[in-house]
Amino acid sequence: MAQAALDRRSRMFRSLRTRFRGALIQPGEDAYDETRRIWNGAVDRRPALIARCVDADDVVTALRFARDHALPISVRGGGHGVAGNAVYDDAVMIDLTLIKGVSVDPAKRQARAAAGATWGEFDLATQRYGLATTGGTVSQVGISGLTLHGGFGHLLRKHGLTVDNLRAVELITAEGEQLRVDAQSEPELFWGLRGGGGNFGIATSFTYDLHPVGPVVLGGPVYWPIEQAAEVLRFLRDFAPAAPDELGIMLVAHQLPPLPFLPPEQYGKPALGLLLTWAGEVAEGMRVLTPLLTQLARSATWSGWCPTAHFRPCSTVPRLPATAPTGGPYACLSCPIPRLRSSSRCSTRSRRGCPS
Ligand SMILES: Cc1cc2nc3c(=O)[nH]c(=O)nc-3n(C[C@H](O)[C@H](O)[C@H](O)COP(=O)(O)OP(=O)(O)OC[C@H]3O[C@@H](n4cnc5c(N)ncnc54)[C@H](O)[C@@H]3O)c2cc1C
Repeated sequence: MAQAALDRRSRMFRSLRTRFRGALIQPGEDAYDETRRIWNGAVDRRPALIARCVDADDVVTALRFARDHALPISVRGGGHGVAGNAVYDDAVMIDLTLIKGVSVDPAKRQARAAAGATWGEFDLATQRYGLATTGGTVSQVGISGLTLHGGFGHLLRKHGLTVDNLRAVELITAEGEQLRVDAQSEPELFWGLRGGGGNFGIATSFTYDLHPVGPVVLGGPVYWPIEQAAEVLRFLRDFAPAAPDELGIMLVAHQLPPLPFLPPEQYGKPALGLLLTWAGEVAEGMRVLTPLLTQLARSATWSGWCPTAHFRPCSTVPRLPATAPTGGPYACLSCPIPRLRSSSRCSTRSRRGCPS
């Protein structure tokens, strides 16, 4: 872009600074590269401006500014969308990651979460009350994109998709109007938001139903080399339809991640895995899971279930402090709250084995 045009653009962005409470970041500024980066490292796009909003008013301001100046926009929630639609060249990137906060109403069994929250932050807040909803299996994924696209997770079989548990959305329309959208006030728009992605406006908060879950649940992955896929899939075909709803079953086919229970020489090799979670009564889970795991153990090559007795529940789940640090998504395999397993406390406990 020619220098004159760049100067014009800089003046235009300066005028926004007087009305915007969050941070505005332009190319060349220190935080620019860090802030435009998303989970998919193959996406390398350069927005004209990153508007790091701190509240819904900032979102309206940034949106109206982009409209007034005919600039395209992109919206960034947790930044885990694989297609990279959160960031576009020469657009205003409306970044929601600073809009945080999860408030839980244990009596109503509901939680309202700001659009910048991740599932790890959401779970930390709701598990204080022994409550949870169906969310992502990886703590760092944003609640926003996952919810707007439907959302599946460990609790899917018992409690449905994330959108089955969605009760309301606070939304900013393309015109900059702020709406509370629920099944009564805006039934058609609400229907669209429950799986229609980011196409209906910018969501600034979500309200979900919660369910009693934990604080102890059983969980862990079991892996086979990809060559055994047919055998595992046949087993699953026969087993899954009649399995109790409390048993979360997720099938994954990927390269083996660097999990502590896997031999390092296997990292990166193609594998099939079952991620099993029991989110019901623990004693009942032991009863249901023992024969299943015994059967799986005959063929499973690698198991991340608590090692001491093939599987055993961890005794009590420590209530993690709000400031619990998060690490990589694979840190703790035997943590009884699967989505909290990126906490470093869980990681330490896992390496020592489960203190059942
Ligand atoms: C490691 C990993 C694990 C995953 N695990 C699961 C899983 O267990 N279950 C599951 O269902 N999915 C899972 N996914 C998929 C994930 O849910 C989607 O990629 C989701 O869109 C990510 O949301 P985000 O807010 O983090 O991403 P972003 O990239 O920020 O957003 C994705 C899209 O949604 C739009 N968007 C985001 N927030 C808003 C908002 N507030 N208002 C309007 N539009 C918005 C963005 O513009 C973008 O188009 C996983 C993805 C990854 C990379």
